[in-house]
Amino acid sequence: MSKTLNTGIKNARNVHSYLYGFGQLGELQNLLNARRVGDAPVVYFIDHYFQANGLPEYLNPDSSRDLILFVDSSHEPKTQQVNSLRDEVLERTSCLPCAIVGLGGGTTMDIAKAVSNLLTNGGSAEEYQGWDLVKKPGIYKVGIPTISGTGAESTRTCVMTNPTSGLKLGMNSDYTVFDQIILDPELTATVPPSQYFYTGMDAYIHCMESANGSYRNAIGDAFGEQALSLCRKVFLSDNMASDESRARLMTASYLGGCAIATSYVGLVHPFSAGLSVVLDVHHCIGNCIVMRAMEEFYPEGFREFWSMAARQGIAIPKGVCDNLTDEQFQQLYRSTVIHEKPLTNALGTGFRDLLPFDKVVSLFRKM
Ligand code: NAD
Ligand code: ZN
Repeated sequence: MSKTLNTGIKNARNVHSYLYGFGQLGELQNLLNARRVGDAPVVYFIDHYFQANGLPEYLNPDSSRDLILFVDSSHEPKTQQVNSLRDEVLERTSCLPCAIVGLGGGTTMDIAKAVSNLLTNGGSAEEYQGWDLVKKPGIYKVGIPTISGTGAESTRTCVMTNPTSGLKLGMNSDYTVFDQIILDPELTATVPPSQYFYTGMDAYIHCMESANGSYRNAIGDAFGEQALSLCRKVFLSDNMASDESRARLMTASYLGGCAIATSYVGLVHPFSAGLSVVLDVHHCIGNCIVMRAMEEFYPEGFREFWSMAARQGIAIPKGVCDNLTDEQFQQLYRSTVIHEKPLTNALGTGFRDLLPFDKVVSLFRKM
């Protein structure tokens, strides 16, 4: 590994307030009542799982005055989806909401963050993809994860794709950070095992990549080490989804998100972004697929990842890059090596020499 580099991140922002513990969702209405002014409604973005299976106990939204919008998380967020949800909120409410609640996984929480920013800043989602482009605080926003791993509850971004430009990039801004989060491990009890593993591994992989990188920050390292230790306890245990494991993974996800505020990912995320842009593979399962090709870069992480998957009996898809055309491999190459910061973090400034086209193709072929 090359010498330690300064991340360049000077002033890190974390979530303002958090509630933690089984049953803490019951505090939500008290928090929201403290924000109510006149007729301003609360707008809820809720993962569609809870439309089909009933709302979580203790949620109790006031449907006579508030607006509930269910989010179809079978697709990751798109810019025009965020714009049309913003329009729907404006059409269906008489004034700006007093609060936005995002209850779900990374998809739903990111949509809540993005709509909150758009409602006060005007314009469209595409205009804010980048760094520090959001100029005003958004609507007061509450994040409530129902699946653990991405850290979307604690980061300063909300990832979305602009299908027209092919750009997959979030609104990276201090204003994107939730004002309040509720970490209630009761909510993750219903997540199917494979999805639980794929999303949970996002926390492990983020921190494993950072720990092996050259850009370092002592606070980021400390958050990341603790998140890794919790992930090991969860995924090397007999039951990754016990109450204790779910509480640990929710904590790891939060800490992993805090770690990312002052660090960078490495090789896995750029390759996973390639799979996402070219083959529409979702973020967390994409990272797991990329781990098939990571032995030479992260030998310890590779061994640990595969022992965790075996321990939990989780199958990782294989052969996603079989039968691709030359043009598709060109696209995969371009959408991977574009991620300069994380690749520099992993391989140094000469990363392009270490990742020529043929090498990148051979790695994708292992997936
Ligand atoms: P998700 O929101 O995409 O949901 C995955 C699946 O889990 C969905 O089918 C959903 O219905 C289901 N689900 C969620 N909670 C459930 C529950 N309690 N019971 C049963 N099913 C449940 O999941 P994710 O993996 O958390 O999020 C992925 C998204 O997060 C991607 O769009 C990715 O780009 C984004 N992301 C954001 C950040 C960030 O910092 N903002 C970081 C990493 C990833
Ligand atoms: Zn990730």
